[in-house]
Amino acid sequence: MIRTLLSVCIFLAVAACGGDDEGQQVSTQSANTGDQRVAKALFGAAGRPSDQRSEPFGGYARGCQAGAVELAETGPTWQAMRLSRNRNWAQPETVDFVKDLSRFAATQVGWEGLYVGDMSQPRGGPMLTGHRSHQTGLDADIWMLPPKRLNLSRTERENLSSISLRRSAGAYTNDNWSQQHMNILREAASDPRVARIFVFPGAKVAMCNTATGDRSWLRKIRPWWGHHYHFHVRLNCPAGDRGCENQAPPPAGDGCADADRWVRDILNPPAPDPNAPAPKPRRELTMARLPAQCSSVLTSN
Ligand SMILES: [Zn+2]
Repeated sequence: MIRTLLSVCIFLAVAACGGDDEGQQVSTQSANTGDQRVAKALFGAAGRPSDQRSEPFGGYARGCQAGAVELAETGPTWQAMRLSRNRNWAQPETVDFVKDLSRFAATQVGWEGLYVGDMSQPRGGPMLTGHRSHQTGLDADIWMLPPKRLNLSRTERENLSSISLRRSAGAYTNDNWSQQHMNILREAASDPRVARIFVFPGAKVAMCNTATGDRSWLRKIRPWWGHHYHFHVRLNCPAGDRGCENQAPPPAGDGCADADRWVRDILNPPAPDPNAPAPKPRRELTMARLPAQCSSVLTSN
C-alpha cells in the first residue's frame, strides 16, 4: 500500500500528495444537494467565526467548524505565526491543547514555548491555499523552530522561517533534531485528546530507535510527506459532537516497521507500476459535498 502510494506520489510530484489528511474515508452525506458553489472561495472569505455553539462538522478534509475560538496571537508560552493568514482559529479543545503543549515546552523542555503555525480558518472549511485538511478546527501545525523570544512583531512573524529537521528527503533527521523535539512530540502523542501526529519518516524512526519505557505513544506518530518544518497535531472529535467524523485509529502497535518501510522507499524508490490506474484528479469541494450544517455555519453572524 505504502509502496504503491509512494510510487504514485513520486510520479505525480510531491504537491499532489502533500496533503495532510492521511486518506480519511469521509462518509458524510450532504444535504446541500445542488449547491455547486466552490466551498474554498466562501470559507476563505469568512473573516470571523460563526456565532454558534462550538462544534466541528464533517471530516478533517471535508468539513467546517461552528463557533470557533481564537488562539490569542501572543500568550505567555506561545505566539501564533503568519497572522495575515487568519488561521489561528479552532475548536476550544484544540486551543486548550496548544496552550497546554506550549506550557509543557516552556516548563519541562527548556524552550521559551512554541511557535504555532496554521490551525483553521474562522469557519474552517477548505482553504484557497495550502492544506487539504485543517477544515474542522481540530488540526494544528507546530513549528520545529525553538522560539528564541515570544515578542515577535507582526512583521517578524510574517518573515521568520522555521527550520527543517530532515536530511536525505526525510529518510533521516539532521543536526537540528533534538531530544527536546522528541520530548514535545512524546507529550503531544501521549495526550488523550490527540488522534495522530504527522511528521517526516526519519523523525519517527529516530524516536523508534531511542524511545525507552512505555512506547505506546509511538502509535499515534504517523510518518508522512513534508512535515519537517512543522509537525501536525490532529485531535479526536470532542465527546458528544455527533456531527464530527473521526478517522479510523492508527493500526495497532508502535508503527515502527511501517516507518522503516517509508525510509527504505525514500532511499530506494520503487519503480512506478505501469499497470497502476491513472490517479483521479482531485474534485473541487463544492458546498454540495460538505456536510449540510456547513451552510448555516457560513451564513450565521
Ligand atoms: Zn498541518
